[in-house]
Amino acid sequence: MPELFQTVYGRGLVAEFKTYVHRPYLVVTMEDLWPRFADDFDDGLVGPLFVSSLERTDLERIVAGLPTCESVIGLGGGQALDVAKYVAWKRRLPLFQVPTAMSVNAAWGQRAAVRIDGVIRYVAYAVPEAVYVDFDVVRSAPPDLNRSGVGDILCYWTGHWDWKMAAETGKVEDRWPYDEALVAEARVALDRVIDAADEIHAVSDAGIRALAESLRWGGSSFHNAGWNPRHIEGAEHFVFYNLEYLTGKHFLHGQPVTLGVLLMSDLQGNRPEVIKAVADRIGVRYRPSEMGVTWDQVGEALRTLKAYVERAGLWYTVASERPVTEDWISRMHDWIGD
Ligand SMILES: [Zn+2]
Repeated sequence: MPELFQTVYGRGLVAEFKTYVHRPYLVVTMEDLWPRFADDFDDGLVGPLFVSSLERTDLERIVAGLPTCESVIGLGGGQALDVAKYVAWKRRLPLFQVPTAMSVNAAWGQRAAVRIDGVIRYVAYAVPEAVYVDFDVVRSAPPDLNRSGVGDILCYWTGHWDWKMAAETGKVEDRWPYDEALVAEARVALDRVIDAADEIHAVSDAGIRALAESLRWGGSSFHNAGWNPRHIEGAEHFVFYNLEYLTGKHFLHGQPVTLGVLLMSDLQGNRPEVIKAVADRIGVRYRPSEMGVTWDQVGEALRTLKAYVERAGLWYTVASERPVTEDWISRMHDWIGD
């Protein structure tokens, strides 16, 4: 099995950096988080660099203007960790990552999500010395943020069905033949989250650890499987992409992805009630009104899903295999609610 990023769990972890990272060290974080952590650093600090843009041309300019530093510490949610990766890659510096919420798997992925002319692109390549999960830091983030992280694990439920169906109907891509062992590995990460549903809801130490371990596996899995997304992503993500495209809204990634899991599991006939019960126990918010969109917008994203997938050149899933009817959309409206 390919290596996963070294991950350390504990408390008071941020205050320890000054005793061992290469000096001077750059901290990349968000302006609103900084007051909580400023006292944890000493005169070896450069910056902090507050993330203000993910646009690649801005990042290039910012990196070029940075003073000399010998290591990079990323401290925050996805954006701060991605910019920290980008700086570490560009300057070839050792990287230390501290995710302050369990909302995304950015801490455990090699590439950085940046924007090029406003379009999200995954660039660069950085493997941190270690990822530090501080229970007290994570627990102080809003619970909805921490619970939403399960979206990128629950999606294996629908992703695996899509991959198997594509293989059985002869529609699977030549470069991604169905791989039972890879699916079984992903299933371990999924089952870990299902088994810990109540702990994740409570944002307990056990819940944080279970979710972090699964995000850790998933974060590097696209790369580790030879840039194959089939075992970790399917039509549920396509629902989210189309919803984002149609509304232009900024979402908390795991929420619309979870909505996509529920909808696509029903279209698949893939025990939708079972996975909905898991999402409900965790308490991840997946209803349209909870993400600031209307059911009509969700309905439109479903109606135009197949065309969107074809236009975007995405892979073969239930979105291409089964027609979306007005009857089904209306039944989904009743099932999910507003
Ligand atoms: Zn995702």
